[in-house]
Order: sequence, then structure tokens, then C-alpha cells
Amino acid sequence: MLEPATSVQYVKGIGPRLAEILAAKGIHTVDDLLHYLPFRYEDRVNPRSISELRSGEMATVIAEVRNSGLFRTRRMPIFQMTAGQGRSRLKSIWFNATYLRDKFKPGQMIALYGKVEQDQYSGEPQLVQPQFEIIGDSTDDGATDAAEQKVASSLEVGRIVPIYESAGQGRLTPRWFRRIIRTALDNLTPDLTDPIPAMVRQRLGLIAPREALWEVHWPDPGESLSDLQASRTPAHIRMIFEELFFLELGLELKRCEQKAQTGIGFKLDDRVREAIKKILPFHPTAAQKRVLKEIASDMEQPVPMRRLLQGDVGSGKTIVAFEAAIIAMEDGFQVALMAPTEILAQQHYFSARRILEATGYRVVLLTGSMEDARKRDIRRHIAQGNAQLIIGTHALIEQKVEFAKLGLVIVDEQHRFGVLQRFKLMKKSGDVGARVSTAQTAEPDVLVMTATPIPRTLALTLYGDLDVSVIDEMPPGRVPIITRRISDERSAEVWEFVRKQVAAGHQVYVVYPVIEESEEKELKAAIKMYKELDQRIFPDLRVSLLHGRLDSDLKDQTMRLFQKGEIDVLVATTVIEVGVDVANATVMVIEHAERFGLSQLHQLRGRIGRGAAKSYCVLMTGGKISEDGERRLDAMVRTNDGFQIAELDLELRGPGEFFGTRQAGLPSFQVANLIRDRQLLEAAKREAAAVLSGPSEEISKSEIALALRHMRARWQRTYGLVEVG
Ligand code: ADP
Ligand code: MG
Repeated sequence: MLEPATSVQYVKGIGPRLAEILAAKGIHTVDDLLHYLPFRYEDRVNPRSISELRSGEMATVIAEVRNSGLFRTRRMPIFQMTAGQGRSRLKSIWFNATYLRDKFKPGQMIALYGKVEQDQYSGEPQLVQPQFEIIGDSTDDGATDAAEQKVASSLEVGRIVPIYESAGQGRLTPRWFRRIIRTALDNLTPDLTDPIPAMVRQRLGLIAPREALWEVHWPDPGESLSDLQASRTPAHIRMIFEELFFLELGLELKRCEQKAQTGIGFKLDDRVREAIKKILPFHPTAAQKRVLKEIASDMEQPVPMRRLLQGDVGSGKTIVAFEAAIIAMEDGFQVALMAPTEILAQQHYFSARRILEATGYRVVLLTGSMEDARKRDIRRHIAQGNAQLIIGTHALIEQKVEFAKLGLVIVDEQHRFGVLQRFKLMKKSGDVGARVSTAQTAEPDVLVMTATPIPRTLALTLYGDLDVSVIDEMPPGRVPIITRRISDERSAEVWEFVRKQVAAGHQVYVVYPVIEESEEKELKAAIKMYKELDQRIFPDLRVSLLHGRLDSDLKDQTMRLFQKGEIDVLVATTVIEVGVDVANATVMVIEHAERFGLSQLHQLRGRIGRGAAKSYCVLMTGGKISEDGERRLDAMVRTNDGFQIAELDLELRGPGEFFGTRQAGLPSFQVANLIRDRQLLEAAKREAAAVLSGPSEEISKSEIALALRHMRARWQRTYGLVEVG
């Protein structure tokens, strides 16, 4: 008997070698294998007779191979195979299919599935590019019987056939998966406990786990094909809900646990309010006021704050962060502000100095490039409690700093951090807390800032462990950025425009896409373009180059020159995406804009329009533009609203890509899809909260314990996080 946790290599027919291929697909256990769902289904319930085929329909035909061969036409080789049922004959063709040359032997029984079309010469129906499976060989007199038997027991014919993505460069075919998964199902232990509490099961009408596994791989011939394709059969719903439920259960638990720890209840009286008012160089927007209120009321509670501050680039998060910092500092606590890069840390440092100057708070900067003696000195100040606001890069603050009395950690993400990555990060900031002098037992508050608008539905998952505040309003007086797309054949006009802007005292970015797989090439393009702009097009202007391969000193130096206005045109790869604030830059030219993702385009555009002057984003396009590319460019021209952009981006790319799969720390789902399954996700969150509200008449203690145990095992296995719960 196979247990869900049994290694796949023990499923008959797999073994250690194939198990390795499966491991690369994330399939390690029997359970993983059974969660490897078909990406589509084919209706082969009713094999058709050749004589009744109509052109335009999809059909399954079971017939005997008569002959086959490769034909070369002027345009491409075409492989042709004729199969028959009695006297009827049916031709199938495959384009460019030289690999089929020796595939078929006359007399073989074969199942074909594909689109019926009319042959343009003979007018007869034919199958174009059908999928096929050889069901049996006919070699002697008893052949027909044997073949028929095979048909009967075949996993492909007379049923709705699941189609799996193949693995191992095609070695493990959809057919192989069908066979292996069937074997696994046949040998699966009969007593699978359902980890979902009965109350939840009932409310959602969920079928049992075992039944779901069978039905999803082995649908009943009567099952609705469209429900199957849409992953909306009871079997799919059961499996999807289960996955989301245990994700949300972990997140909810994490949230409860955080709330249960002792935090710091900061004093918030008129004196503090006065101190905050004093620093404001402008009237805060209504949105800024609202989020500050949310943050402040968290900070007043003696429970650790875990709050996400979301707001589009330029929406004014920084000042809100400083306001929060003042609340902590006024109460005698230290604040750590962590930025993703040194440039940004420096930028935060300068604005902190500017904004907090008059108030007398002691602000320090701690970066890797400082001399060691200097760093030691600053660390001592931090340990002794002399430094109040400590600004640095994540790496630096996380690892080596001991605080005297840390009250608030502000994490400026800029990049999208998924929930998992943040768990790790918070654990570290917890460590920071732990290294605070032993006299401090309370957990510091944590405020995470992100410049990436996250569609609301997704925030539920990604930030399920955090409370969310959103700044959904731009500071007044912003002139909306004008965005235009223009073919690169008209680049002369663009450069003319750039020249005018520079003459008017402004600065310009010119950005080249660096796409991972051809980074080298793109880099060359940027360097080449830099030379072209510097020497030929703008010989009289100050043009500089910035890209990721430059060493960080040089990068910093270039960025600083640009900030000081000593560079007119900065040619860059996407390294400038990070939030550097140069109010005087009014033009962003993006070359090959069709190659960028939508959110990335929006982030790049966010580098301009930071001052009072009118700003322009020019999307230059070259070559062929895909349909999605058109939609992206179109959206950019149409709207400046980061949330709208994010929603569309998510729709176009799917969650994995949207968050840049690997770095995102986004839980990768086996069966769920965050866009398709929004409603199930909401239900999962609701039910997870209900379960954690404790035992009642509806749910027993042992059910809760079982669910939590299952959740922990799952989190550990899938997300590599042991410490949850
Ligand atoms: P974010 O970090 O959200 O991208 P910033 O905090 O850097 O945005 O703010 C962008 C710019 O807007 C800064 O120059 C800041 O001084 C200015 N700003 C922020 N809030 C206001 C406001 N309420 N009124 C006027 N200007 C503001
Ligand atoms: Mg910022």
C-alpha cells in the first residue's frame, strides 16, 4: 500500500532514475504525484466511425494503420498516415513531422484524436495534426481479439482522457503519467484521513479526498467536459480548496501568534502629535492621514505591529514612515529603517536629515562601503542608544547590529517580497530584537513599505499575515505624466525632444530592457546605444551609462552625479528601477518598451513626474509587437493608476510571473490558481479564521489539532518553513 508521504520511486514503474526526473518537477511523494493534475481533458468517451465524421469537429477515432509515409512539399515535409475501419479510410497528416517516419506499422490499432478537416483535393475528411496512441499490434490471427482487449482496458479510449504536461524533455509522456497515476491510485492506502474539519467540509460541500483524487484523474464519463476544463468539478474544488485552506491556516496562525506576543505600547499624546506636526513640510493628503492613524493606533497597542504600507511610487510613503519613527523615538525607542540598496539607504538618510534636522533626533547611516573603523563607531553608538534612527541596507542591519532599545523596524521593500521571504525576514528582525539588550522583552513593531501595488485579491494571500494600509491618492500638484508610444523609426524626433528638455534645464533617462536570457546581448545594446548617444547624437551633452555589471562604487557615483544634476542623459538598464528620487528628471525614454512587463514599465515611469514640471514617458517600440505587448503599451498610455496596471499585469502574466517566480517567495501552488480561484481563496481565509477561533459545538479540539498538524507538515514540505505554528 502506498501512503501519501511515500517516495514516488516506490510506485511500481518509477524507480530511482525516473524519480529524479519527477523531482525536477517538484514531485517527490505519492501525494505530489497525485496532485499533478491534467492541464486539460479530452473527450474520448465515444470513438467515432470514420463514415460519420464531419469537418470542423473534434473526434476520437480508433482504427487500424494501413500505410504511412513522409512527403516533401516545397514548403515543408508532411507526414501522412492512413488508417481504416473495414472499408472506410481516414487520412491523418502532421506537418514537419519527420520524427514520425518509422512510428507506425500496418496492422497496428491506433487511437487518434484531433480536428476533422476537409482535404482540399479529395474533399474527404482528414485529421490534421491529431494526437495518437498506439493501442496494440496486430501480428497474427488472434490479433484482433488481443487488440480489442487492449482497447477495453486502455486508459485512453472510452473515457474522458486527462492530458498531463510531459516531463524530462518528453521522456515522461502524458500517457506515461496516466499509467503511473493509475497505478498509484490503485495502490493508495484506503484510509486517507480528511484533514479538513467536518464543519468546513459541510459548509463548502466538499467531497472526500480519495474520491477527489480518483475523479480528477479518472473522470466519470458523465462528467461535464467544460467543468473539467475550467477546474470546476467537485473534485477540483475539493483539491483547490484544500491547498488554499492550509495556506491560509498557516498565515492566520502566524498572525494570531504575532498578536499574542508582547509588544510595545507606545505613548501617543499631544507632545508626540506636536512633534509630528513640526516635521511636516507640507499638508499630508487624506490618504496619508488615514494610514498614519492606522499605524499609530497599532503602535499604541501593546501588541507587535505587523503592517504593510502600500502605495504607488511617489504617493508619499516616506514621510509616513518618518512620522511613525517619531512616535517611537519620542517614547525613547530606536528605529531601524532598512532599504534594499545603498543608494536608497543614502537617499533615505538625506531626506531624514532634511526632514528631521530641526528636531534634534540623532540619525545615522550604516552602509557596507563605509570604512570599518567608522562602522564600528556607529555600531557602538547604536548599542549605547545614542543613535535613534538607524538607516542602512537590509543585509547590514539584519546581521551585525546590536540595538539598545529597538522599538520599530521599517522595511522598505521596493521589490516585491512574497510572504515566505518576509517570514524569513521577520524572523531575522525578530533576531535583531533578540539581540536587543536582554532587558527588552517586547517585540519591536514592524512596518513594511512596498511600492508595488498589489491587486487586492492577491494581497490576501501574499500579505495574509499582515494588516494592510493603502495610500491611494497622490500628493496634490502632481502633473500627470504624459505617456506616448512611438516607433523607433522616429527616434530622431525623440532625441530632438530630449535635447529641448535638457535645454530647459531638465534631465533624461534612456532605458534598455535587460531580459534574462539575453542579458549579454541587451547589455551590448545599451553600451552601443550609449556610445551612439554620447558621441554622435548628443556630443555636446553630458551622457553617462549605468548598468548592473558596474561595480557598486561606480554605480553610486554615477547616480550621485545624476542626482546633483551633473549628468543630462543617463543611459541605463533596468537597475534604475529602484526608487531613486531625482525631481529634475522629466523624461523617461524606454527603448523596446514592448519587451518589458507592465509593472516594470510602470515602475520605470515612476522615476519621473516627481517634481512640478511636466514629465514625459516615451515608449519606443521596434520590430514586431505581440498581442500582449500591445495591451501593455496600450494600458501604459491609457492610465497612470498603479492598481489598474497591476490588475492587468496579473491577468496578462499570471501570478508566478507577476511576482517574478523565484525571487518572489510566492507560494507555488500545486493545484490552485490565484486568478481563477479568488473566491475559493476568500472562502479558505474565512474558514481558516473560523477554525482558529477555537473549539465549539461545530468543531472539536481534535479536529483542530489534526488540521494544524497537517498544516505544519505541509508548510514545512512545500514552503520549507518549519517555524510556522
Ligand atoms: P514614495 O516613497 O511613496 O514613492 P515619496 O515618499 O518619495 O514617495 O514621495 C514622493 C515625493 O512627494 C517626495 O518628493 C515628497 O516630498 C512628496 N510628497 C509626499 N507627500 C506629499 C504631500 N502630502 N504634499 C506634497 N508633496 C508630498
Ligand atoms: Mg520611497
